[in-house]
Amino acid sequence: MAVVRVKRPPADRNIFFQVAGYVAEIGKGMRLTMGIFLRQLFKREASNTLEWPEQPADYGERFKGKHFLTLRDDGEIRCTACFLCATACPADCIHIEAAEHPDGSIEKYPSRFEIDILRCVFCGMCEEACPVDAIRLGPEYTMAGAAGEKWVYTKDYLSQRSVLEGGVTSVKDENTKHPDLDREDAAQTSHLKHGVH
Ligand code: SF4
Ligand code: SF4
Repeated sequence: MAVVRVKRPPADRNIFFQVAGYVAEIGKGMRLTMGIFLRQLFKREASNTLEWPEQPADYGERFKGKHFLTLRDDGEIRCTACFLCATACPADCIHIEAAEHPDGSIEKYPSRFEIDILRCVFCGMCEEACPVDAIRLGPEYTMAGAAGEKWVYTKDYLSQRSVLEGGVTSVKDENTKHPDLDREDAAQTSHLKHGVH
């Protein structure tokens, strides 16, 4: 096999051209930055910067933010502790403990329902897996906090925190576990106050 010998390209030893090229590229970047800065300063161009938290971000209706647990019409938690959400969760961050319900017509309920939100990847699989519309991901996206905050969301927090206005009732009919909600039905039965999606 023929061996092809190539010559190493000569190093550019002219330091003047190296520095000039470097400064020229910085100048191009600064010109772009200053152009945008001045156009926005003198209102020639709209700024995309939000002054959060005074100016909240506007996300789409299908945004998947902080979870909440829905309630039945009688105010009881809708979850039946079937563990489907915990099984579907790829981050293994849902912890449920099932208990026998005092009402014989209800098989069981979650005596403990917790989500370790620091492990959650907000994939929505729990919402998809739930057969009774008991868990949803709502529009809340503000979850920043300091060390020592409670990052494990409890059943009460998930169903009754103040932003939920006392709790969110499910859009699904009480006796229908797997309804095919078309648009018209959804409009008639929608009493969801939070996270309409
Ligand atoms: S959104 Fe995904 S990761 Fe988070 S609790 Fe639900 S299934 Fe688990
Ligand atoms: S939230 Fe839904 S899927 Fe999860 S345990 Fe409760 S009823 Fe089952």
